[in-house]
Amino acid sequence: MVDKHINFIELEKACAKPGCPLCTIIRERAERYIDGMLFEHVSDRVFRKEFREAGGFCFFHSQKLDSFRDGLAVAILSRDILEDRIAALNKRQLRKPWKPKGTCPVCVERKRIEKEYLTFLIQADGGENGNAVREFFTATEGFCVPHYAKLLEIPKFIPKWIVTFHENKFEELMRRTSQFIELSAYGRGAEFARLSEKDKLVWKEIARNLRGGD
Ligand SMILES: [Zn+2]
Ligand SMILES: [Zn+2]
Repeated sequence: MVDKHINFIELEKACAKPGCPLCTIIRERAERYIDGMLFEHVSDRVFRKEFREAGGFCFFHSQKLDSFRDGLAVAILSRDILEDRIAALNKRQLRKPWKPKGTCPVCVERKRIEKEYLTFLIQADGGENGNAVREFFTATEGFCVPHYAKLLEIPKFIPKWIVTFHENKFEELMRRTSQFIELSAYGRGAEFARLSEKDKLVWKEIARNLRGGD
């Protein structure tokens, strides 16, 4: 019950921001997670071992270390990884290149959060907060393509309104993108100029929708 409450509040907050609400939750949680993890667990042997086996964070999440406030934590964790990489490089294992044995800890956490919120959205339907969830969710631009695809993978009944909402969203994005392409043709400059700012920038919107995860 307490968890549900947290999910509700967090989803409502994310829905008030632009873009895919699940991307927003994950981005904010990942930042907090990296923050807490590096501060609290840098001296934790189990975490150090897991982090080392994963070869540190993936490319995407390791970029967040550049602006991290605790340089010492980054240095201690990174030294472990470099030590392993040097050992492998020195063996010149060209036929057997170094590969991490584990997965980026933030990516593991991301997967967990995705499942938690997608399940929450499905299960909220028909419950006491169902109408409120539906109302604030349908006021957003909805999920990005990767998150909607993940939702469909969940082996539960997906409420019809969620499916219709996204089908319409992607159809409309398709229509606006085609319009942008057509009006970009030679001789259609006047019509292009009449497009709204949003429609003129639809190429950014479609790229962001396909990518997700930011
Ligand atoms: Zn997303
Ligand atoms: Zn990662």
